[in-house]
Amino acid sequence: MIVAAGIDIGGTETKIGFVNRDGDMLAFTNIATNAERGYKAFLKQLQSEITVLIDSLSAVSLVGIGIAAPTGSYQNGTIENASNLGWPRNLPVCDLLGSYFDVPAVISNDANAAAVGEMLYGVAQGVDNFICITLGTGLGSGIVADGKLLLGADGHAGELGHFIAVPNGRPCACGRNGCLETYASATGIVKTYLQLSEKISTHTPSENNSRLTAKNITKAALAGDENALKAFEITGEILGKKLADAISVLNPELIVLNGGLSRAGDLILLPTRKHLEENLLNIYNGTVEVKISKISSKKSAVLGAAAFMWLKLDEVSEEATKQHH
Ligand SMILES: [Zn+2]
Repeated sequence: MIVAAGIDIGGTETKIGFVNRDGDMLAFTNIATNAERGYKAFLKQLQSEITVLIDSLSAVSLVGIGIAAPTGSYQNGTIENASNLGWPRNLPVCDLLGSYFDVPAVISNDANAAAVGEMLYGVAQGVDNFICITLGTGLGSGIVADGKLLLGADGHAGELGHFIAVPNGRPCACGRNGCLETYASATGIVKTYLQLSEKISTHTPSENNSRLTAKNITKAALAGDENALKAFEITGEILGKKLADAISVLNPELIVLNGGLSRAGDLILLPTRKHLEENLLNIYNGTVEVKISKISSKKSAVLGAAAFMWLKLDEVSEEATKQHH
């Protein structure tokens, strides 16, 4: 059995999965990242977990490793801002992991990986131009243009989460104000809901913040809570408008929504679709579909990272076939 490993390195948790060419996840596990132990200890644990997974399956052959990490640079094979984890900047994680198992390794950021997962195994199969939006703690985006993942000069193309959606709006982790992800994300909708509820609440937003989640707001909206319904409407409006702008740059035929907040289904899908359509340049009216991903939010970056590896292996074998003829 031939598998590619997908590894999703996050600040608190790292997920590992083995995926065959058909997109079946044959094994999955997760470990605490514990970045403070240092990157060497982390990589050592990762290597041993992968070895354990290999041993747990019978006759498995690892052909490559796909890695997804924030600020993962495809061109350099590095995690650029590994300093966020207290690790050296530009950590050459592809070399370090690939050479240990003697297989090729590729890296991209998690949102780009999710887009490749949708292209190979998800709702974007056969679609050459689409944007995959991950609505999690922040808003990540991966762009596929003319059948290829759009990387940009350093692998950082597709940062739609930092489009300025509201001038002088909410402060963003990036140091600027009003970024799309401070509104259209699981954390953004909590803030919106709290603002709507402020008049009737005696708690300060920071007190409420720890208890309130996008999941709770979804439940409340389904039970008919007016502020929760309004929070989804506002979130969809801000997201739809910015997506309409993105469409005039990229002319995609599909927008895929995944990540935790997308699990709200129609609550987020319908207002996003409506406001997107209303704000489109007229030549694009009726040409863009918006769909919710069917891939589990928890596993989408792992599946996508492995998918990216499979894509690279396909390219290598196509190249070899061409040269042979
Ligand atoms: Zn920002």
